[in-house]
Amino acid sequence: MTDTIAHEEITRARKLAAESIGIDSHIDTIQRVLVMHQDLGKRSGAGHVDLPRLRDGGMHAPFFAFWVPVYYEGAEAVRRTLDLRDSMQSLLDTYPDEIELATTATDIERIVKAGKVSAFLTIEGGHQIADDLAVLRMYFMLGIRSMTLTHSRNNNWADAATDKPAHNGLTGFGKKVVREMNRLGMLVDVSHVSDKTFYDALDVTTKPVIVSHSSMRALSDVPRNVTDEMLRALAKNRGVIGINFGEGFINPRDAEALRLAIRIETSAPALTGKALDEYAAADVHKLFGSRVEVAATVEGVADHIDHAVNVAGIDHVGIGSDFDGVSGPPNGLEDVSKMPVLVAVLLRRGYAERDVKKILGENCLRVIREATGQ
Ligand SMILES: [Zn+2]
Repeated sequence: MTDTIAHEEITRARKLAAESIGIDSHIDTIQRVLVMHQDLGKRSGAGHVDLPRLRDGGMHAPFFAFWVPVYYEGAEAVRRTLDLRDSMQSLLDTYPDEIELATTATDIERIVKAGKVSAFLTIEGGHQIADDLAVLRMYFMLGIRSMTLTHSRNNNWADAATDKPAHNGLTGFGKKVVREMNRLGMLVDVSHVSDKTFYDALDVTTKPVIVSHSSMRALSDVPRNVTDEMLRALAKNRGVIGINFGEGFINPRDAEALRLAIRIETSAPALTGKALDEYAAADVHKLFGSRVEVAATVEGVADHIDHAVNVAGIDHVGIGSDFDGVSGPPNGLEDVSKMPVLVAVLLRRGYAERDVKKILGENCLRVIREATGQ
């Protein structure tokens, strides 16, 4: 059990995390700036991530996801994405000595080496391009380097994992989106998509993909997690999966929390503008307002990592916590500052330090380098 982890084990884990390029391929923290006006430069008891806690945890290079609920449609989804990008900019401008925008793997290495947090920007849902490749290209101009093809519902060109199939995977336009992302140098993220969309995207892409925040269906049978067959296909594509720490992703006893989040997101009234933003703000407070009791544990997270490593191989597994996007991270891993506990658990299970470094970020860095070309 983790409560018996010795002081020396944590010290060794902390040192290893500090020496690694810690990449978390999915945190939803920026919504706390937009909706709750929180100052991420200051240590806080709220939420799961801020700059001081990223440094404590050795996770120096998170992907900041711009999550836009699916009830933002068309131009409203674009407006919301720009609002989140603006909140991100305010953080970058307020703390230029502590955090810097990264658009390539080389940037990430340079920024982390300089002792700063590297911010890699992603959008969480293909609905955010409003069916327009020009919007996708303008997001690229704004420094965004990854897109999750769907969120919780199908969009007009791709089926989601948590909706009824409507397109049999990717439509013709959906395949065009993947090709345009390849051409631009954006990571194709196949978390949240249906199994068929996953395989369609792997067929079309010429670059390794990322499953930014999903876990193992073999251990928690929810549609947001991936099957062993998908893991093997991911390894063949030379991609990477970031293990999601969310309670229902890790422990099936917590899966109701996942279903609730999807229900809230899909039963929204038809609103626009300020009224829509107010609805979304209430939604965020409801979902992420306070920590809930969960069955998931840090050992459970390590079980998912073990399974992914056994099936896909050590070169295809990473971290995609979903911090600030889930209500109850596992016991023992309550926020990003606790990452050394997970590292200690992995070391205790016999992982070599070199392999832990791969999981903590090197695998993801390789995929970023191949996708962005630098
Ligand atoms: Zn998500």
